[in-house]
Amino acid sequence: MGASHSNFLSNPEQFATRVTQSQTSSKVKEYDFVIVGGGTAGCVLASKLSENPAFTVILIEAGRSHEEYLFSKIPLGFSKLFLSAADWAFSTTPQKHVKDRVIRLPRGKVLGGTRDFNTPGGTLGAAPFLAFMDNKGQRSSAAAAYLTNNVLAWPNLSVAVNCCVEKVLFDDENNTLLATGVELRTTRDGPIFCVSATKEIILTAGAYGTPHLLLVSGIGPRKELEEKGVTVVKDLPAVGKNLVDGLPTYDYLAKPLSSLFALVQWYITGKWPMATLAAQGAAFFRSDDPSLPYSVPGGKPLPDLVDLSSGSNAPDLEISWFPMLILDGGVGKIPPGVQGATARVVNLRPKSSGDITLETSSIWDKPIINPKWFSNEHDTQIVARGVRLLLRIARTKPFSGFVDFREDERYPFLWIGTQDPDTLSEEELYEFIRKNSKTAWHPVSQLEACTARMGKSEDSSVVNSKLQVHGMQSLKIIDASIFPKQLSGHPCTAIIAMAEKASDMIKEAHI
Ligand SMILES: Cc1cc2nc3c(=O)[nH]c(=O)nc-3n(C[C@H](O)[C@H](O)[C@H](O)COP(=O)(O)OP(=O)(O)OC[C@H]3O[C@@H](n4cnc5c(N)ncnc54)[C@H](O)[C@@H]3O)c2cc1C
Repeated sequence: MGASHSNFLSNPEQFATRVTQSQTSSKVKEYDFVIVGGGTAGCVLASKLSENPAFTVILIEAGRSHEEYLFSKIPLGFSKLFLSAADWAFSTTPQKHVKDRVIRLPRGKVLGGTRDFNTPGGTLGAAPFLAFMDNKGQRSSAAAAYLTNNVLAWPNLSVAVNCCVEKVLFDDENNTLLATGVELRTTRDGPIFCVSATKEIILTAGAYGTPHLLLVSGIGPRKELEEKGVTVVKDLPAVGKNLVDGLPTYDYLAKPLSSLFALVQWYITGKWPMATLAAQGAAFFRSDDPSLPYSVPGGKPLPDLVDLSSGSNAPDLEISWFPMLILDGGVGKIPPGVQGATARVVNLRPKSSGDITLETSSIWDKPIINPKWFSNEHDTQIVARGVRLLLRIARTKPFSGFVDFREDERYPFLWIGTQDPDTLSEEELYEFIRKNSKTAWHPVSQLEACTARMGKSEDSSVVNSKLQVHGMQSLKIIDASIFPKQLSGHPCTAIIAMAEKASDMIKEAHI
């Protein structure tokens, strides 16, 4: 893991065909499978499909190789990639229900995808990849785990980096829409190249990237596409809708790492603080568990909540714990001398959902992302229960022995941690949540997703149970965007399991 590989293709002349006026389709460079987006799901698919030497596979990634980013290897270095070239650096529209705040949405633009810079603390499952770190103390990602040097040496697999796919190309054969290939460029104004697929095109560009690419390719709500001057290929109203992302509320308690020293320690030994997980612990709860102290003794009864969990024993709240201060989603400056820890409360099954729409008809302009966080009061009420529970946990041993609960006006971000959970009113909690919630970093539901969700109806979903885009031949989607509902946990394991299963389905179908 982590060994360098110099054969990633970054010059499209090596693997694609330049689009010219005189070009005929017979001249276009062909692969059996064209996979768009070298992220968590894309790396799994590229590796698994190319296990069959009879298939030719190309994986096309907009970002650069993960090997170019030291911080993608350091388990605790994830936030150093935020706002770098490895980050799409999306942000939301002003969010009405959280004081009109605009919230940053980091997403991996790098081989390995968002997994390359997420907080290495995933839950649910223990696939080999989810060991997260190898024996050199380095972070594992889908690229490191699935695109090993052995896999990259297979002659039937090509991996292109730094190439943005601009649109999917279609043919209309006897009234059947057939996805035939994709166009790509390395820069906004550079020459256009294309590749074609003899079997299938598979979109794995993530919960924001996939709906964006579908929309600019003409697949989406007719009216919205026409307003942006995009030629409609297929009217599919659910593209970009149903965006669900849990917005956690962070509670800062009053000690960080001396990072330079820790970095040197990691570099020399692969050990010590930088080789640890960011989220060191997570606990899952039900918001209606009568044994948990969610309310104020003698206070008003709590509002009734709808049970949105996936079963009577399934959680709908998560509390996770980081032994460091994480301000402003990881890019906020920590005042000198301030030390602390962070805990977050995540609503695993939000009722509010938002959408992704086009700003312009170009893939090079960011889409408009509006998660509509807390537009449903239910979500504020459920998070309030979690925050009060967290405040109570912080006041029990052994925690309480390490935490300074005194208020200090110089550090307003410590405010909630200093409040007494037995007297803090629901309204004060709601106000804190509206002012301070940040993204859980996972659009698919707690975990960003559902923006191209699976279902039976063309009116409310985008792919069928075979992962094919409704009404299309040869176009599949396999990434966080297709989950029909949000997961009650962190998504990486589920995405990898889904991509493994999908690879088997595809291999079987094309025997
Ligand atoms: C900060 C942060 C922390 C997280 N922490 C955790 C965690 O602890 N545990 C957990 O389970 N999950 C976590 N997640 C969520 C998890 O990482 C993502 O849900 C998951 O990686 C999504 O996988 P994906 O394959 O759907 O998309 P991605 O991994 O995002 O892959 C999409 C890929 O497609 C590429 N792409 C997009 N558009 C194009 C285009 N037009 N042309 C070519 N390429 C394109 C992108 O550059 C990217 O590489 C975290 C996310 C973030 C942001």
